[in-house]
Amino acid sequence: MSGRRPLIAGNWKMHKTCDEAVKTAQTLARSIPPAGDTEVMIAPPFTALAQVFDVIKNSPIELGAQNLHWKNQGAYTGEISAAMLKSTGCGYAIIGHSERRQFFGETDATVNLRIKAAIAHSLNPVLCVGETEEERDAEATFKILDRQVNKGLEGLVADQLPDLVIAYEPVWAIGTGKTATIDQAQEAHWFIRSLVEKRFGNPLANCLRILYGGSVKPNNISDLMTMADVDGALVGGASLEAETFIQIVSY
Ligand code: PEP
Repeated sequence: MSGRRPLIAGNWKMHKTCDEAVKTAQTLARSIPPAGDTEVMIAPPFTALAQVFDVIKNSPIELGAQNLHWKNQGAYTGEISAAMLKSTGCGYAIIGHSERRQFFGETDATVNLRIKAAIAHSLNPVLCVGETEEERDAEATFKILDRQVNKGLEGLVADQLPDLVIAYEPVWAIGTGKTATIDQAQEAHWFIRSLVEKRFGNPLANCLRILYGGSVKPNNISDLMTMADVDGALVGGASLEAETFIQIVSY
C-alpha cells in the first residue's frame, strides 16, 4: 500500500455547453459517494466552471481547469488567469496537456510559468507529460519524460509542490483507443517518480500522485490501478458520459 489517495480526473476538453455540463455534473454529484476512497475531479470548459461548481460544491467532486495563463491580468485577449479560475471554485489546473503542446505551441518553458502561477494561487497543478509514438519508437521515452518533468518544474523546491500531480499521458494513447500496457505505464510512472526523487527528495516522490492518461475505459482501469506507481487516471473521452465515468471511478 502506497498510502497515496487515488485520484480519477475527467478532462472534458472542448465539449459541453453550460446546460450539458450542468446535467453531467448533477448526475455525478448524485452518484459519487461522499468520503469515498478515491478522489474525483472534473475539468469542464472554462465557460461552464462556475455553474458546474454550483452543482458540485457540496459533493466530494473537485473542480479543475484545463489550462491557465501565467499572468494575473492584462492585455492577453482570450486568456484566463489563475486568480480567475480560483474565483470560480477550481482547486486543480491541468497544465501542459499534449493537445496544448501539439496544437497551441505550449513549450516546457510556458508550462513552467503556468505551474508557478497555479502554485502561487493555491491551484493544485496536474502536470501532463508523455512521449509521441515516434519518440517511443526511437526509444526516447525516458529522455522526453526527463526533459518535460525537469523543465516543467524548473526553479521550484519541494516545499512548493506538496499538492503536485503528474499525469503520464503517452500521446499515442490519447483518444486513439490504444492504451499503454500496464507494464509500459508502470515503467514510465516509476521513472517519473525516480526523477522527482532525484530532484526533490524522497518524501515528495513518495507522496506524489502519478496518473495514467490515454484511452482509459471502464474495462482497463482496474488493471492499471493494480500497478504500484499508478495512483489514478486522467480520463478524456470516457469522462464525457456520466455513467461511464462513474464506472471508472468505482473501478
Ligand atoms: C486526455 O485528454 O487527457 C485523455 C487521456 O484522453 P482520452 O482518455 O480520450 O485518451
